[in-house]
Order: sequence, then C-alpha cells, then structure tokens
Amino acid sequence: MLKLLLLIALIGGGLWWFARGGRAGSGRDGDASSGRPPANGTGDAGQNKAGENMVRCEYCNTHVPHSAAVFAGKHGFCCEEHRAAAGY
Ligand SMILES: [Zn+2]
Repeated sequence: MLKLLLLIALIGGGLWWFARGGRAGSGRDGDASSGRPPANGTGDAGQNKAGENMVRCEYCNTHVPHSAAVFAGKHGFCCEEHRAAAGY
C-alpha cells in the first residue's frame, strides 16, 4: 500500500515537473538565442534549414540533401549501397 502511494506521488510530481519544466525551458531558450526567431510554424517543405538542394536517389526515390548524397557522374543516390545496387 505504501509503495502504491509512493508511485502515485512520483507520477504526480513527475507530471507537475514536466509541465513546469517544459514551459520554463522554452522561455529560457528564447532568451538565450536572441538572434534567432523561433522556427515553429515556418512550413518550408522540400528545403532544409540551409536552403540546400535536394537530390533524389535513383534507386529508392528518397530525397537527400546535396551534401549527404552519393554521386556517380550525374546520377545521385542516398547512400553508397544504393549507388552500388544501381550498378554505378
Ligand atoms: Zn536510395
């Protein structure tokens, strides 16, 4: 019975701490990075944060950032395995 009460107290305290900590944490982050506006709500689909071009893997059709892509001539791939699997 004491264990059950302890468990309930722990869960309740945890939820309270989580709810408080979440709000305090986001407020502190906003103050610390004063140069950057919050990134929430900006729907830039298809472009990552650096505005980098996306490359489509010719093997699995996954889009990967240009810097992370593997190239064989003008053919782009998401990884070395797919470049080899495609025969390049
Ligand atoms: Zn791929």
